Amino acid sequence: MTAIEDTTTTLPKIPTVRLDQADPALMEELLEVVERVATSGGFTGGPEVEAFEAEFAEYCGSAHAVGLSSGTEAIVLALRALGIGAGDEVIVPSNSFIASAEGVSLAGATPVLVDPDPKTHLLTAEGVAAAIGPKVRAVVAVHLMGSTVDMDALLEVTQPAGLKVIEDTAQAHGAFIRGRRAGSIGDVGCFSFYPTKNLGGWGDGGGIVTNDPEVAHRVRLLRSHGEEPRYHHQMVGTTARLDALQAALLRVKLRRLDAANDARRRLGAALREGLAGTCVELPAAALPDGEGDHVYHLFIVRTKERDALREHLDAHGVGNAVHYPFPIHRTEAYAELGMSEGSLPVSERLAEEILTLPLFPTMSDQDVSRIVAAVRAFRGNH
Ligand SMILES: *Cc1c(COP(=O)(O)O)cnc(C)c1O
Repeated sequence: MTAIEDTTTTLPKIPTVRLDQADPALMEELLEVVERVATSGGFTGGPEVEAFEAEFAEYCGSAHAVGLSSGTEAIVLALRALGIGAGDEVIVPSNSFIASAEGVSLAGATPVLVDPDPKTHLLTAEGVAAAIGPKVRAVVAVHLMGSTVDMDALLEVTQPAGLKVIEDTAQAHGAFIRGRRAGSIGDVGCFSFYPTKNLGGWGDGGGIVTNDPEVAHRVRLLRSHGEEPRYHHQMVGTTARLDALQAALLRVKLRRLDAANDARRRLGAALREGLAGTCVELPAAALPDGEGDHVYHLFIVRTKERDALREHLDAHGVGNAVHYPFPIHRTEAYAELGMSEGSLPVSERLAEEILTLPLFPTMSDQDVSRIVAAVRAFRGNH
């Protein structure tokens, strides 16, 4: 056994995530667009939103993008635009942020929560095939943590069954799946632009991409009271528009998204390499190298000694968190589904064992070394 570096340190704590203030050049550009929007006086819709939609559609390789107020609304309005609602069921992985299921419920449908693959933590075609019943009309495929679902395998199951596929791409903006962007492969790709996401604004925001002009049109109507033209309300919609300010900020950050994702990929690979052979288990990819992607929205490890490791990391100035401590089927919000403990054992085990380590695009190589050294110094390795 080689000597273990002394990792107890007076260095500042490495946060789990860090936002725009870490990049002064970006900050300056963002403040300029805030001024531009403030002095234009247009705060909802208008040229900034239209320009962002055009740029984001092109970036994703989709025919249409529609800016919305959140990722949750994106799922709700995508389902409503597809005609899915009361009486329908939608398959959702239980090990996701609750919004993946809430979008289904808020559209009036019922989520059918399923387990992911224990190695990849992702929804699989087999898992979906086993959950298809007479009322199931759609699937929410979550590219969890930035790791991509095998969409081709999934579509082989959903297409013959006539199911729609929503890609929950809230954690995987810009990821590639066999050369196509995540979100552009299913019927609708749903995005969140919440500040911590790979593409995030300075508040809430979201959007959809789709190649179906009818779906794009219906989402546009739904986000603003079904109104077209002015005061002609064609359907009961809502207020779910993307703010001009967020759109303007997102346009600046979209130009940096590929570089930020490259930094995430590089840091993720360095952490994986450093942590190989330690007491933590690293999630596997669903697709072979070069076919799938991982844009490391968050860096997840798995350990049976999570609480002890968290304490140890805290003592060593390494930020950590749990995303997410409860599977959706075990939340109070979904108690009405009546899914008791043990009903989805993989999601339940993951919720007990997953741990999020720091990863953000401006993280340094020294930070990576400190994180690796701290995990390696944990007694669970010895
Ligand atoms: C963040 C997130 C959402 C919801 O996005 P909001 O903008 O917060 O409504 C949906 N699904 C997943 C997987 C997310 O991480």
